[in-house]
Amino acid sequence: MISLDQSISSIKGIGPKKSALFAKLNIFSVGDLIHYYPNGYQNRRNIKTLNNLKHMEKATIIGTVCGDIQEINTRKKFKILKVPIMDETGRGYVTFFNSFYLKKIFQRNRSFYFYGNVNIVGGEVQISHPEYSSTKDTILEKFCRIRPIYGLTKGITQKEITNLIEQILLDKSFEIQEYLPSGLLKINSICDINYGIRNIHFPSSSRALKVAKYRLVFEEFFFLQLGLRMLRKKYIVNNNGIRFKVFPELNNLVNSLPFKLTNAQETTLNEIIKDMQQSKEMNRLIQGDVGSGKTIIALLSMYLAYLNGFQSTLMAPTEILAEQHFIGFKKILEPLGVNIGILSRSVKKKKDVLRKIEDGELDIILGTHALIQDKVVFNKLGLVVTDEQHRFGVRQRSFLKKKGMNPDVLVMSATPIPRTLSLILYGDLDISIIDELPPGRKHINTYNISKNKISRLYDFIEEEFRKGRQAYIVCPLVEESEKINAESAVDLYNDLKETTFKSRNLALIHGKMSADEKDSIMKKFQAGEIDLLISTTVIEVGINVPNSTIMAVINAERFGLAQLHQLRGRVGRGEHQSFCFLVSEGKNKITRERMKTMESTNNGFVIAEKDLELRGPGDFFGTKQHGLPELKIADIFKHKEILKKAQEEAYKTLENYKLLSLDEKIPLKAKVKQLFGDVLKDFSI
Ligand code: ADP
Ligand code: MG
Repeated sequence: MISLDQSISSIKGIGPKKSALFAKLNIFSVGDLIHYYPNGYQNRRNIKTLNNLKHMEKATIIGTVCGDIQEINTRKKFKILKVPIMDETGRGYVTFFNSFYLKKIFQRNRSFYFYGNVNIVGGEVQISHPEYSSTKDTILEKFCRIRPIYGLTKGITQKEITNLIEQILLDKSFEIQEYLPSGLLKINSICDINYGIRNIHFPSSSRALKVAKYRLVFEEFFFLQLGLRMLRKKYIVNNNGIRFKVFPELNNLVNSLPFKLTNAQETTLNEIIKDMQQSKEMNRLIQGDVGSGKTIIALLSMYLAYLNGFQSTLMAPTEILAEQHFIGFKKILEPLGVNIGILSRSVKKKKDVLRKIEDGELDIILGTHALIQDKVVFNKLGLVVTDEQHRFGVRQRSFLKKKGMNPDVLVMSATPIPRTLSLILYGDLDISIIDELPPGRKHINTYNISKNKISRLYDFIEEEFRKGRQAYIVCPLVEESEKINAESAVDLYNDLKETTFKSRNLALIHGKMSADEKDSIMKKFQAGEIDLLISTTVIEVGINVPNSTIMAVINAERFGLAQLHQLRGRVGRGEHQSFCFLVSEGKNKITRERMKTMESTNNGFVIAEKDLELRGPGDFFGTKQHGLPELKIADIFKHKEILKKAQEEAYKTLENYKLLSLDEKIPLKAKVKQLFGDVLKDFSI
């Protein structure tokens, strides 16, 4: 009897060494193994005779060895084994490198199936390094079936993993209990899990593969949506949210701002106010491009909480950002009598701040992760805002929320993501989109340049220095294990400060520095004491230095577009024309297209959509980091339609949960628990 929880080391032939290799593929249990889906297939159904093979095609032929095997020496140490074969239509060869043990196998007059790449050179038909099987051992039907191709790691072969999975699936006692409700399967014509798993690995036909794939994609989306919906319900436990009232002072403040809100800002603010007035708790995400003015919206919402006699808090991912917000908020709100405080690791007189938060002396508290510590106790917390949400996981958000009595929650994301994606990643939130920049913003001119033009870039930077401007150069993070030819920030800094920019003030900032060191450098840069800041991506988030006009990114091809867009957003924040230089060799087509996208648009939403299309959601979408189950086979870009369907069905299932039979409820619940574990720990359907 094989069970899914069983460790793979319990399978015959898998010792500790193999187990360790499988662990590299994140395969620990039998369940992991059967959910390790192929990333491609070999279709051997193109069966041909020797006389109608085409050059460069992949085909299966049935051939009989018809002569002596030739050994050919090549210039390098290789030897090629050339086996003459024939069928009733013609003659040809199959060739192998350095595989002399095959001499015994390919004896004259024996027949084989061969599958491989066809080469026709000077009229001679050759199949190099084909897969083969003796016609005596196998029937054609078996040899020709659609075969899985798995992602491998060193030490595990294709054959090994294929055989292992086959062995499990063929075991008579192996059966997975269905966990999707039977009604759902029927209505949507979705196959059951056993059919799905068997045919995703060993499809009985192309159609069976399609059906299996649909099922598995559907279920990944289904559970993700189900989980997110449950999370959302967990937030909105009841209608005990605060009913905030609208006061005329809010409008007065809007009217006294030095600028007029954009239409998108106004719409978003109205959506928030409407939410805040209701007894239902607010759970809203503001999605806006870099510089679209999210902060002021947060400020106004927090001011409304203040007017209602509640405290509010804003959590930022870095100290610098928290401090930036602190300064900005004080300027606008202190004259109106609002008491504003900041709490972060390096804040002085922390005890004092903590006491003021608890006593209710502070109305608005800005800060970092420090805000979610146990010792932070609020007096009357009514609104919780997290900035740059993509840095925080689902859980951190809920920690902060727990510090109040059903406070409203506002989340701000600085990384524009396509709608399809936000539907998933933020399926538990309502969404407002600020897709408009304040008027008068200058377009940041963006250029993709090759490495050998870099001295001209330095000349250009020097010119900007003469005008009194500042610049950033960002290098990719180089992991020691990676032997790539990427310039590291440290090397570049050491080089430039001795040579090209000897007379300028340079500084280096990277992730291995302590937070204090980083902060002190950023402060100097903000104060204009540093001309050129060389860094890894630590400056990515939210920093505002209007005097800097150049952002140069070395090895730009190693960054995601969303990340490049974020980096570029560090310039163009003041009155001066700004520039972004993407230094990359751009040899491959996708890289060139990505760089072109950056050159052609400043719109973060357009860039995000393109990024998703070019890279696929793999690295874009860190589900794991968010505590959500991983998408193994579903692709948010390719399977948009299935996603929509799965979401509908997930919502329906939750609504009609009571109508399910016990036989349906139990496995469904178990699956949710297995997938979400901690995230939904204190929640039952
Ligand atoms: P982000 O959305 O990236 O967080 P910020 O909130 O930091 O952007 O806003 C960027 C800058 O734009 C700030 O200096 C802010 O004062 C300014 N700003 C915000 N809204 C407007 C507006 N409607 N008109 C002009 N400037 C604005
Ligand atoms: Mg911001």
